[in-house]
Amino acid sequence: MKRVTVSFLGLGNVGLNALRIIDSYNRKKAGQEGVFIEVNAVSDSRAAIGGNNLDTGKIIKSKEKGNIMETGYRSVDRDWIIESDSEIIVDAMPASRDGRRELELYTIAMNHGKNIVTANKSGLANYWKEIMNTARARGRSIRYEATVAGGVPLFSMVDFSLSPSEVTGFRGIVSLTVNYFLRRMASGEKFDDILHDAMKLGILEADYHDDTMGIDAARKSVILANSIFKTNYTLKDVRYSGVENFSNEDISGFTKNTRIVTSVERTGGKVVASSIPVNLAEGDFLLKIGEKGLGYQISTDSNGTVNVTDDYDGPHETAGAVVNDIILAALKTS
Ligand code: NDP
Repeated sequence: MKRVTVSFLGLGNVGLNALRIIDSYNRKKAGQEGVFIEVNAVSDSRAAIGGNNLDTGKIIKSKEKGNIMETGYRSVDRDWIIESDSEIIVDAMPASRDGRRELELYTIAMNHGKNIVTANKSGLANYWKEIMNTARARGRSIRYEATVAGGVPLFSMVDFSLSPSEVTGFRGIVSLTVNYFLRRMASGEKFDDILHDAMKLGILEADYHDDTMGIDAARKSVILANSIFKTNYTLKDVRYSGVENFSNEDISGFTKNTRIVTSVERTGGKVVASSIPVNLAEGDFLLKIGEKGLGYQISTDSNGTVNVTDDYDGPHETAGAVVNDIILAALKTS
């Protein structure tokens, strides 16, 4: 069986759920899949621990109690994690506003021979070209399934199931939080009340303006355009709108069918990407996506129109996408 070594940066909603999934996967499915995931280091904002084949159950319990140092494992620093012998670095940290921190992290990690799996969008949305150039130059891989549409299979599906096709268009509801605000604002509720509830539900980015100004959704448009339509876009190339900047006039035009729709299409030789409110027509597939789910529609030349959705998409589902990326990265390097 292939053993793949992994280090986690970030043990919040996504990182901790990924550890829970790995804990169960290693016991129940590793034999079947032929890949055992060995965790060599984890870090949160306060501490980092490292060693060989750490006990994931023990880390989960300690983090749930509030302090990973209670595991008794060795305290290490970020440099140790990047220079240690883990094959994969998982980025499950909050997004930086400009992506610079992520660019530096991935560059150093790839220079040390690591592959990257990320749920964090900011590096890829701001420095796609630079990160991909480094990956190519170093022969490393970067997988980012979790960055768009959480746990709904997207990039793996496009890469592995639609190979003969050219994708001609993408449209989807790939951001829960901004749509949560939009639906409630469209029915006349006040922004501050919705913000209060969203905080209680724990569905906001570390900096909530990333959600409410539409930046998180815009980052997804950039990653989609670059990954599927082979552009080298950054945020300045996409049109996006959040919910903080809506006027009363905007809101009065919204209906029960208004959603922030993320779309990318090739029009007149140019790739146009956006994340903006759209009044969807009755019968549109995107209206079948429930309040707690995510989904999308892809138009292709050889596989027709492909619709994909899930009923519920939270950090656990996103974490599932992270772990799937780890397994795919391991299979690629075996
Ligand atoms: P959280 O805020 O829940 O977790 C972030 C984690 O990163 C925490 O463990 C935090 O530490 C840790 N952290 C913060 N700063 C540092 C640092 N400098 N070094 C090491 N660790 C650090 O975020 P989520 O888990 O919800 O999201 C993680 C990433 O995944 C984000 O980039 C987000 O955009 C992306 N994402 C999230 C989705 C979701 O459903 N939540 C969906 C798709 C993508 P501490 O525990 O000490 O606070």
